Formats: sequence, structure tokens, C-alpha cells
Amino acid sequence: MSAKTVPICDDCWRRHWQDRDPIRLRQRTQETCDLCRKQTMSGIYVRRDSDKSFRMGDDNKVPESACPSCGYMMDAASCVSRENDGRPEPGDITVCIRCGHIMAFADDLTLRDLTDEEAKAVAGDQRLLAIQKARGEVMKESKQ
Ligand SMILES: [Zn+2]
Ligand SMILES: [Zn+2]
Repeated sequence: MSAKTVPICDDCWRRHWQDRDPIRLRQRTQETCDLCRKQTMSGIYVRRDSDKSFRMGDDNKVPESACPSCGYMMDAASCVSRENDGRPEPGDITVCIRCGHIMAFADDLTLRDLTDEEAKAVAGDQRLLAIQKARGEVMKESKQ
């Protein structure tokens, strides 16, 4: 598995690493926080691998799985439910960060489409709508 450096915002840094000072880039650019998906100019970057083991331990790896709609490969680090305690559970709902497809974690924590019942239950979910909106704005910006 390859390590990846991802941006995170000030709030998320403080939430997860209260007792450490972040290393900040001098030349800051606007980034999307990898944890909460908010836009940030924090200039803080973390390696996703160490972040993951810090939060979940090595025995809690979630398999990489492709979005059923667009095929984008995601792991637990990209999922919505990470905001809660960092660890998705079967049946948790998430949104594809690439195409906005709403889906759920299967029993083995790969991604699957929603059942009809789930789709009805999440229709109008404010949190998902907010994420989809934010995602759309990020995509718009990256095209300019
Ligand atoms: Zn954040
Ligand atoms: Zn997708």
C-alpha cells in the first residue's frame, strides 16, 4: 500500500493530535481537508498511512473498494462516517468523492449500492446533501 500525503484543516488537527504541533507548508494553497472535506488554508499535511494506524490500529484495515457507479477506488479514509469515530461499520452510508454516488458499506466493508429501503431513508439527509454540495463545488474549482 502506498502512503499518501493529504491536507487536513486546523480543526481536524486539533481534534486528533491535540498534543502535537503540526508542520505547516510555507506556501499555502487552498485544499480540501481529507477528514471533514472543508476548504482549508491550514498548510497542514499528514501521511494517510500513519493517520490510519493512529486511529484504527493495524488490525482494522478496511479494504479498498471501487465506487459501484464510477469505479473510483476508495478506502475508509475517504468515507463520510470517518467523521464519527474513524471506523465505518457495515450499513454505514458514504458518498463517492468523485461522482457523488451514495452507497453503503457491505458486511466486509467493501462498497455496495443502497437497498431501496436505505435509499428512501437517506433521501433528504442533510449531511449527505451538504457533502454532495461541497463535493460539487470542489469539482467545479478543479476544472477552472
Ligand atoms: Zn477538517
Ligand atoms: Zn463514484
